[in-house]
Amino acid sequence: MGIDLEQIRKNYSEFDDYKIEHLAKNEIGSLDPDVVAILKEEIKKRGLDSNLNKGIEAQAKELTESELKELKSKIKKLACPDCGQSNSPLIGTFIREVKSFIVFTHYKKTPLILCHACADRKRNNAMITTALLGWWGIPWGLFRTPHAIISSLSDSKNREVISDSILTQFALENVGELRTNWDKESVLVDFIRHRNQTN
Ligand SMILES: [Zn+2]
Repeated sequence: MGIDLEQIRKNYSEFDDYKIEHLAKNEIGSLDPDVVAILKEEIKKRGLDSNLNKGIEAQAKELTESELKELKSKIKKLACPDCGQSNSPLIGTFIREVKSFIVFTHYKKTPLILCHACADRKRNNAMITTALLGWWGIPWGLFRTPHAIISSLSDSKNREVISDSILTQFALENVGELRTNWDKESVLVDFIRHRNQTN
């Protein structure tokens, strides 16, 4: 059975701009080419940012090794979403934190993209929080606190590998956003800051 393109066209015409932009930047891989064509018409009709088409194209094809490299080096050169400095390349890091509330233990491993100094500061803060608040949940705090601390220490021996894997994953997941806003670096920095906060 074919897709009801007319119905889709009607639906898209009723979406607000934000939703159209979200589809264009994130969902192209899951859309039928005919549907992508409708989306492009809608972007044109509304006079939305024509760079959205670059994001659409980037998602519609397989990413090559050199394109992935280009995306990652773009990310690394952005200003730090945390402190704003741009004199050292951005890295990816894991923040591991355990907090216990007597019977409830919360363990969080968060991937972040930021500068070296901010990464160090955040990792240290998480270690202190974990050391102070992690252990006193019974029983999980007792297990997870040493686990988090040991894992943080072993992360530090694999910094480059971890950073590369976080940047790679981010680039693959957000190729549409990156290509759409390639020349608007402050928009990309805001996007990374938002991702860091909601991870
Ligand atoms: Zn920073």
